[in-house]
Amino acid sequence: MKNKHLKILLSAPRGFCAGVERAIEIVEKSIKKFGAPVYVRHEIVHNKYVVDDLKNKGAIFVEELEEIEDRTRPVIFSAHGVPKKIPEDAKNYKMTYIDATCPLVSKVHREAENLHKAGYHLILIGHQNHPEVIGTMGQLPEGSIDLVQNEDEAKKYKPQNNKKISYVTQTTLSVDDTKDIIQILKDRFPNIKEPMKEDICYATTNRQLAVKNIAKKCDLFFVIGSRNSSNSVRLVEVAKKSGCSNSLLIHSQSEIPFDLIKDSNIIGISSGASAPEILVNNFINELKNKFTVSIDEVEIIKENVVFKAPKKLN
Ligand code: SF4
Repeated sequence: MKNKHLKILLSAPRGFCAGVERAIEIVEKSIKKFGAPVYVRHEIVHNKYVVDDLKNKGAIFVEELEEIEDRTRPVIFSAHGVPKKIPEDAKNYKMTYIDATCPLVSKVHREAENLHKAGYHLILIGHQNHPEVIGTMGQLPEGSIDLVQNEDEAKKYKPQNNKKISYVTQTTLSVDDTKDIIQILKDRFPNIKEPMKEDICYATTNRQLAVKNIAKKCDLFFVIGSRNSSNSVRLVEVAKKSGCSNSLLIHSQSEIPFDLIKDSNIIGISSGASAPEILVNNFINELKNKFTVSIDEVEIIKENVVFKAPKKLN
């Protein structure tokens, strides 16, 4: 098939965001400072390659603090954020903890708290059971925040009390779908209070805009990322909605669909905010082994956001 030419449109920005870089740096620096093992509550970011690499360096991943056998070792909270109860539990267990919550998720936590203090009942637009949603809902007393997941739920939403209402959102949602959900809420509740600043983060927005920009030119679109990575799954949806119906997620167990690829001429590639660039390079190398490939990187914006790891880890 080497005589078959494939053109790759490489979407940019793609891959690691500042919050993911910081979370990984926190685990690496913690291992260096405290020695191995250090515990990490939940996958630090949703990517198997990253998690396996950190396991090899001395991290032990658990879902709950109660699973930790040696509580003299430090524990790190993942980039998605945790309910307020978790650091409290760690304190009660007398554990050292380091919080790798992305500052942009912490911003939503503070916003939710401030709105609650100001007397608002909150709506969180997001996906049930995602750790970020669990973490944000866990900032407030039970019953102070309701989850709305889609347009249908926004249409049916009934406020539970006579309080003023406000909303916040998960940081990794589809920008367009969220706009539609918000519009429904605004039409139904004209006095609903909006967040001071958009909650969907810069990285999610930029990756979606970049995919949107090239999807309609592609016969096939691949997003490298994990099945449990919200922003990777959203990128596949965005590619489909923006004109490339053949859009697929390439995750750790995916087989590369060469049959589809051989019938295509232009292939789009992006990657989720938790997917390292090496996975994109490996994927492209697989294509290069079978086809003659040319690559055109299409960058819509340069990102220069950096979040520093806590100074105490230096
Ligand atoms: Fe932070 Fe956005 Fe990255 Fe999530 S996707 S870690 S909110 S920068």
